Amino acid sequence: MASNARTTPEAPPVMVRVAAKLNLALGVGPLGEDGYHPLATVFEAVGIYDQIAVASRSDEEIRITVEGPQADLVPLDSSNLAYRAAELMRDRWAGAHLGADIRIEKSIPVAGGMAGGSADAAGTLLACSVLWDLDTGPDDLQQLGAELGSDVPFALVGGVALGRGRGDRLVPVISRGTHHWVFATSCQGLSTPQVYRRFDELGGAGGNWVPTALIAALTSGDIDTVAGCLGNDLQDAALDLRPDLAGVLEAGTEAGALAGLVSGSGPTTAFLVSDEATGRTVAKALLELSQVHDVRVVRGPVPGAQLLPGTLQARM
Ligand code: ATP
Repeated sequence: MASNARTTPEAPPVMVRVAAKLNLALGVGPLGEDGYHPLATVFEAVGIYDQIAVASRSDEEIRITVEGPQADLVPLDSSNLAYRAAELMRDRWAGAHLGADIRIEKSIPVAGGMAGGSADAAGTLLACSVLWDLDTGPDDLQQLGAELGSDVPFALVGGVALGRGRGDRLVPVISRGTHHWVFATSCQGLSTPQVYRRFDELGGAGGNWVPTALIAALTSGDIDTVAGCLGNDLQDAALDLRPDLAGVLEAGTEAGALAGLVSGSGPTTAFLVSDEATGRTVAKALLELSQVHDVRVVRGPVPGAQLLPGTLQARM
């Protein structure tokens, strides 16, 4: 344990932004005895961001506030992954006397299959390590992240990566060029455990094989082959729980997307398009559907959790 931990409540907040993820491929093996499904997944971080500001407190409390259109769906107690991240960092690295005010500006869809909670945990780990001036290196953050949830390690690094195990054993993937994406969000979230349960009920037909053709296409920048290799073993289970999503997928490809798929456990759907102009056309068509709440046209890959400019200067 390193303990340079700062305690001055007047220190300016540390600001971090952290991106959502999409699984370009999500291969799910059969449920193991440990209660988990082994995965082989290719993650891509995409340009939808939560922003997190962490400030010191004069007591040992951890307090969360959340802003944004879906703020009311996010817990403010110790079940919030950002709370748990601050608590873990404090208990392992800083000191029980430290508290934090965590403000989350939420833009990543909640319960949307884009790992928003995990992103907030990753951002909070990074912010706390700076706020409390801790000696944590990237490996330490990765280890703490994996304890908080299987998507947290990727949210720290971003870019494109192959994830094995529970998705937390990462290898970076070279990806050439920029990908243009359209995301269609839904009014109502889907619970990840419920989707996995339905996956099992449907026979758990998937496999955690490394998608080598996708990785080769990403490396060569062959966007048409990337589109042909996108896949999600959880998609059938998500569509079974939310049959209305099939119409969204169909409308996106009819409007000109190269391919569409359910993002992670859903219900957000993702469409790969050839350029931004096509993205706007696809987005317009999707917005006309009653089951689509909102659309975002964004790029990927983008980096993982990052300090926002000004944070470091302000603290020097
Ligand atoms: P998963 O990472 O399990 O695939 P997801 O991306 O579909 O999840 P999240 O936005 O992470 O969904 O939220 C899942 C649930 O986690 C929410 O319904 C909410 O109750 C809880 N939660 C805890 N912390 C957060 C957070 N910081 N932001 C959003 N949801 C959170």
